[in-house]
Amino acid sequence: MILIDGKKAAAELREELKKEVIELKAKYNKVPGLTVILIGDMTPSQIYVRNKEKFANEVGLKSEVIKYPDTVEEKTVLEKIEELNKDETVSGILVQLPLPKHIDKQKVIETIIPSKDVDGFHPMNVGNLSSGYESSVPCTPLGCYLLIKKIEPNLNGKKAVIVGRSNLNGKPMMQLLLKENCTVTITHSKTKDLKLECLEADIIVAAVGIPELVKGDWVKKDTIVIDVGINKTDKGIVGDVAFEEVSKNAKALTPVPGGVGPMTIACLLKNTVECFKRSQI
Ligand code: NAD
Repeated sequence: MILIDGKKAAAELREELKKEVIELKAKYNKVPGLTVILIGDMTPSQIYVRNKEKFANEVGLKSEVIKYPDTVEEKTVLEKIEELNKDETVSGILVQLPLPKHIDKQKVIETIIPSKDVDGFHPMNVGNLSSGYESSVPCTPLGCYLLIKKIEPNLNGKKAVIVGRSNLNGKPMMQLLLKENCTVTITHSKTKDLKLECLEADIIVAAVGIPELVKGDWVKKDTIVIDVGINKTDKGIVGDVAFEEVSKNAKALTPVPGGVGPMTIACLLKNTVECFKRSQI
C-alpha cells in the first residue's frame, strides 16, 4: 500500500511556488499578496491563520493578517473587504471561517471580488468550476485532487465515490473528478447503502466528519482512498476512514494527520499565485 505523504507533497508544492514567486517578482517587480481576516479568538482558527501566514512568508508572498474582536460589526468587515478588493497589492482575500453568529457568512463571501476569492467560495467561482471554466477552486478538494493525480495521472473512466456533499469539500471534489472523466457518485447522510457504493469505487474521498466511518470491508483492492476528516476522539485525531483496516485493501491511502491537511494550506498559496497571475493579464 502507498502511504500518501501529504506533508512531503505540500513541501514540494511550496518549493515550486517559491520558485514561481521569484520569477514573478523578476517579471513584474512585485509579489502576490494574501490578506487574511480573522474575527474572534477561537483557538483552531488562530492556529490555521498562523500557519497560513508562516507558509505564505516561506514562499515569498506578501502576507497580512487583519484581526477583529468577535464583537466587530458586520459593516466594518464588509467595508474592509471592499477596501481590499480595490487594493492592487492584495491578490487574494480570505475570511477565516467560522464567523460569529451576527455576521452573515454568505454576505461576506459574496463581497469578496471573485478574482481575489482564494477560497473559491464565491458563487461566481462555484459556477465557473461547475461549467468547466477557469476559477479559484476550494483549497481542500484541490489538495485532494493533486494527491490523487500523483498516484494516478490518468483518471479517465475511473469510478469515484465521494462521501459527503458539503459546499466546502464534496461538491467541488465532484466537479474536479468529473473534469478528469471519472464517473462520480456523491453520497451523503441519506444514501441507502454506503458500503455498497464504496465497494464499487476506484477512488474514495471521505469528507464527512464521522470518525472511521469508512471500514476495511467497504474498500475493494486497488482503491485510492483520500481521508479529509479531522475528528477529535479519545484516542486523538482520527480521520473519516478506519486507517488500519483500510490500509490492508487500499492501493493508496492518506494518513490523518499528515495527509490532506498540509495540502490545504499549500493550495491556498497556489490559489493566491494564480489570482495574481490572472490579474497581470
Ligand atoms: P459538513 O458537516 O459540512 O458535511 C458533511 C457531509 O457528510 C454532509 O454532506 C453530510 O450529508 C454527509 N454525511 C453525514 N453523515 C453521513 C453518513 N452517515 N454517511 C454519508 N454521508 C454523511 O463537513 P465538511 O465541512 O465537508 O467537513 C468534513 C470533514 O472534513 C470534517 O471532519 C472536517 O473537520 C474535515 N475537514 C478537513 C479539512 C482539511 O484540511 N483536511 C478541511 C475542511 C474540513
